[in-house]
Amino acid sequence: MADQLTAAQTATALTAACDAIVAAKERLTRADQAIGDGDHGVGMARGFTAAKEALAEASPATPGEAFKAVGSAVLATSGGASGAIFGTMFRAPAKVLTGDTLDADGFATALEAGAEQVMRRGKAEVGQKTMLDALVPAAEAARAAVGQGLAATARAAAVASADGVERSAELVSGFGKSRSLGERSVGHPDPGAISVSVLLGAIADVVDTL
Ligand code: ADP
Ligand code: MG
Repeated sequence: MADQLTAAQTATALTAACDAIVAAKERLTRADQAIGDGDHGVGMARGFTAAKEALAEASPATPGEAFKAVGSAVLATSGGASGAIFGTMFRAPAKVLTGDTLDADGFATALEAGAEQVMRRGKAEVGQKTMLDALVPAAEAARAAVGQGLAATARAAAVASADGVERSAELVSGFGKSRSLGERSVGHPDPGAISVSVLLGAIADVVDTL
């Protein structure tokens, strides 16, 4: 089990995350049909298909460049709120991941940078039933696990994001298209939170094998 990833291994992990989103397309569609307009699965699958292609073409020199390739492709192709939100989540770490390898501290820093920039740009906060209800706890759990190494850190983030999905179901929407539903959004998890857990789950699974 690698305790730090090279740029190529980071690209491998992010490629698996892209594949996982494409595989989850129907689940994301159903989640957005329940409380939104139903386009989340299609938009995410389009964006992360382009991201996978960008990773293959870019042969990134650093882990930060791999994150940037994903974020830029998603930003350019996903459309909807999620294009900007998930594009930002992946582009933000590029500014802080300047080294040649990605270790546990770098992974936690990447999630923190992603969460910070999404909050800054999107103006949503934790508790408003958005992807932040998965991403912020994931970043916190990752930071708390850094001393246990990269695989444990990635797993802690994945587990916390999945817990965040469960909790998001109980929240009243305060943002995005589901906001107009108010109390009627309760009982349904947030589609973007599901996407975060799909991405982080796939990354943790790959890190376990590297
Ligand atoms: P749209 O809302 O344009 O239809 P999508 O359906 O693709 O876009 O994405 C919806 C998801 O985007 C929501 O489930 C939520 O998690 C996320 N989202 C929307 N607005 C914000 C925001 N301001 N901050 C964080 N996440 C957001
Ligand atoms: Mg939508």
